[in-house]
Amino acid sequence: MSEAQRAEERVGEARTNLVVMKFGGTSVEDAKAMLRTTAIVRGRRERGLSPVVVVSAMARVTDMLLAAAAAAGRGDKFGSLALAARLRNRHFDTAAELLCGDRFTEVRAAICAEFDSLDDLLRGIAAVGELTPRTSDNVVSYGERISSLMVAAAFAQHGLNGVQVDARTCIITDDHFGKAAPQEAPIEAKLTELVLPLVQAGQTPVMGGFIGATADGITTTLGRGGSDFTAALVGGGLYAGAIEIWTDVNGIMTTDPRICPDALRVKTISFEEAAELAYFGAKVLHPAIILPVVQKSIPVWVLNSRNSENEGTKITAMAPPCASPFKSIAAKKRLTIIDVVASRMLMTHGYLKAVFDIFDKYHCAIDMVSTSEVSISLTVDSNERLREICGELSKIADVKLEGSKALICMVGEDIRGRSGISARVFSAIRHVNVRMISQGASEINMSFMIEESDVEEAIRSLHAEFFVDPDPTVFDTEARVAAAKA
Ligand code: ADP
Ligand code: ASP
Ligand code: MG
Repeated sequence: MSEAQRAEERVGEARTNLVVMKFGGTSVEDAKAMLRTTAIVRGRRERGLSPVVVVSAMARVTDMLLAAAAAAGRGDKFGSLALAARLRNRHFDTAAELLCGDRFTEVRAAICAEFDSLDDLLRGIAAVGELTPRTSDNVVSYGERISSLMVAAAFAQHGLNGVQVDARTCIITDDHFGKAAPQEAPIEAKLTELVLPLVQAGQTPVMGGFIGATADGITTTLGRGGSDFTAALVGGGLYAGAIEIWTDVNGIMTTDPRICPDALRVKTISFEEAAELAYFGAKVLHPAIILPVVQKSIPVWVLNSRNSENEGTKITAMAPPCASPFKSIAAKKRLTIIDVVASRMLMTHGYLKAVFDIFDKYHCAIDMVSTSEVSISLTVDSNERLREICGELSKIADVKLEGSKALICMVGEDIRGRSGISARVFSAIRHVNVRMISQGASEINMSFMIEESDVEEAIRSLHAEFFVDPDPTVFDTEARVAAAKA
């Protein structure tokens, strides 16, 4: 074997050991959470793994930054600076509890410089009284910029060779501010140039999730919840052996545990199932995470940073066979149903295209469609472009809007070819008014639209129907058994 081949093999090994660990807002919400995160990363290093860490902003910071940006955009300079001052104090207090000595002094100065520049930016926005998507991305990026600075310092203090990498040097995107599209090839090149050598030198790189920059260096963001997406891009770009999404629940559960406290952990789920769940509202995972990891077959784990011994959920290419038809139930709220009625024109050639072109023009994704001879019903995320979309639609049809709707999505590979499932679903929620139904598009999901106010009741009834006797090979039933014995 030549020297070059041996070097290549060593890089290959390093990459199998490379694990991208993403910590969400609650996993870095205060000094205690950052210390738990530090201990988790130390555990991975002690197992001989090489972590690359992606962090969100501290919990609730992104919302506050957006509120500060909005206040400045309304010309409310003092309101906006007051919010920034609260954030500054919270970060200072956290750094004071987390760090000591010269390291604290250095980090405090760095945080101070970041907040000074944020204040300048907010003053500038307030002076013009206008907030553009580009400036909003710049404001909101401070959350991840500062959290990554603090977490890298905590790692350095605890002997993990932490080093902050500005995500904007690696995550290259287009200029669709607010929801920028990452550009795979330049990202891979930048990660290989800037991050891989740090890993190979035994350091622990820490990057902010969610943020990126255009090729010209203008700050962008990947959309809310986008730190998961960053983790997938970094894992894909570095050909990591695994990606771990650390959050505040034990893994992907049979439904949102906030709605149904007896939700169970799903031990293993397929990429396809996870993608459906994420797209249709299971906030635990960002839908965009799936593509980069499927292409490279990188296993993804969802784990609990408050309960790090728990096994979590493994997401893999193939789901194991499961005796229960569904793996999980998700809900997506704040949807609007648009009824497009055009009695004379629906069956004419090109009519559907004309309708969909209008949605396309406003970059508006449609979740569900159903047609009759004279009408089309579509569901979309309630968004600020709806008024313009309806204006254009009303030139070719009668248009009716119904807001405050929700989509319930039941997912499982094992509904393929089974009979009697829909009867069970709709009898479990017979008291709920169902507006639209869709099944079969992906063969692994059954979805329907209901009133937003019925979501909690519907999910609890469906959960009771389908998870009363769950398959223990796929679901973690131990907690339920222990509760029943107690
Ligand atoms: P992070 O800040 O770590 O990214 P998120 O708040 O984005 O965390 O996602 C975790 C939350 O997702 C959980 O607290 C839970 O309420 C919610 N959630 C919704 N659906 C599910 C599900 N099927 N399984 C687990 N958690 C879910
Ligand atoms: N901080 C960003 C948000 O709250 C990104 C993320 O946490 O994933 O949306
Ligand atoms: Mg999230």
